[in-house]
Amino acid sequence: MQKITVKTPLVEIDGDEMTRVMWQMLKDKIILPYLDIQLDYYDLHVKNRDNTDDKVTVEAAEAIRKYKVGVKCATITPDAKRIDEYDLKQQWKSPNATIRAMLDGTVFRSPILLANIAPEVKHWKKPIVIGRHAYGDVYKNAELKIPGPGTAELVFTGADGQVLRTTIHEFSGPGIIQGMHNTDDSIRSFARACFTLGLDQKLDVWFATKDTISKIYDANFRNIFQEVYDAEFKAAFEAAGIEYFYTLIDDAVARVVKAEGGFLWCCKNYDGDVMSDMVASAFGSLALMTSVLVSPHGYFEYEAAHGTVQRHYYKHLKGEKTSTNCMASLFAWTGALKKRGELDGTPDVVRFAETVEKASIETIESGTMTGDLARIATPKPSGFVTTEEFIDAVAARVAQAMA
Ligand code: NAP
Ligand code: MG
Repeated sequence: MQKITVKTPLVEIDGDEMTRVMWQMLKDKIILPYLDIQLDYYDLHVKNRDNTDDKVTVEAAEAIRKYKVGVKCATITPDAKRIDEYDLKQQWKSPNATIRAMLDGTVFRSPILLANIAPEVKHWKKPIVIGRHAYGDVYKNAELKIPGPGTAELVFTGADGQVLRTTIHEFSGPGIIQGMHNTDDSIRSFARACFTLGLDQKLDVWFATKDTISKIYDANFRNIFQEVYDAEFKAAFEAAGIEYFYTLIDDAVARVVKAEGGFLWCCKNYDGDVMSDMVASAFGSLALMTSVLVSPHGYFEYEAAHGTVQRHYYKHLKGEKTSTNCMASLFAWTGALKKRGELDGTPDVVRFAETVEKASIETIESGTMTGDLARIATPKPSGFVTTEEFIDAVAARVAQAMA
């Protein structure tokens, strides 16, 4: 059989634990048999990050800057226990945080929909994609416990000596205060990433804040989104037949529950933290949640939203059977291949990725699935398969479709 040529190298970022085990199987059984592809490979196994003093993570991000598209396996973010487990020199930073910072990107999460996994919200028919601003606000706050009566103020001292101040509260007894910030640059970059993804996936873009109450802080978010939209995206959105919609956060929440999906919901940092878990669990399973890092410079990195599935990996190491769901990891590959094909102008690469997605969805919809889905599927399947049996079942369907 003639393999399909992928013109430009794809950046491949390997990872840890159970997802690393699945990664290799997905590559060997589903991807590489059909593609003539050059993979620019970076091994982010926690031990290799340690051996290279985390330079490999930086090199991986640089490679995405060069080739524009990457696919990443889940990786361990080391904590104290991992230092002992892997005998690490130090508690290396989260690779995702390093890569996100280098690409100036925003993470968008989107569920894979299946006919036999019903969302908790019965009229959700299309994915709701969540984009979370990943900088500032309450996550970079300064807090104080106020011991007793007194005046709390916000003070800004400019580099030029200018002083701005406002009273927060005249305390008559003990209490608490908190200061938060964001920067116009970060908000602008977030807005660009949101509009870029909306255009890329032809989705309406929703953004919401509480600007009726927060007349300076949240209003600044609203204004910057509007400025970026008007100046850089309005014409392209109109040409694509999609729209940008701004509303209040409480109105947005009410509308999301009533909607049928099929839009991108951009959230401020805290809103995104809370709402992405709500939307993810309402759609069914963490193992069906895909994730893409979109940079305003046009770089894309695809991955699963879940971690390395540590508990399953320890079972695997003991030689026990596992039933780990590879769907989100597989869709990281297909997402990256579709983007690669689109940028290269190679529709056969895009079609191959779509064939793989279809084969995996049909495998589950025909009743072959891993344990996490068997628990929540309707109709209930008679049983569930192992990690490898599921990948083999998908591979068999791909082989059939490609024959
Ligand atoms: P996790 O990998 O997200 O898994 C948590 C639990 O969710 C699993 O134990 C499993 O539940 C279920 N689950 C997640 N993905 C699944 C899948 N594909 N198939 C079946 N079940 C799945 O989180 P973790 O095990 O707590 O974290 C392990 C490591 O992942 C940590 O070191 C963390 O730093 C890292 N992490 C990395 C990323 C990333 O690279 N993007 C993201 C998050 C976490 P049951 O055990 O009940 O079956
Ligand atoms: Mg959270």
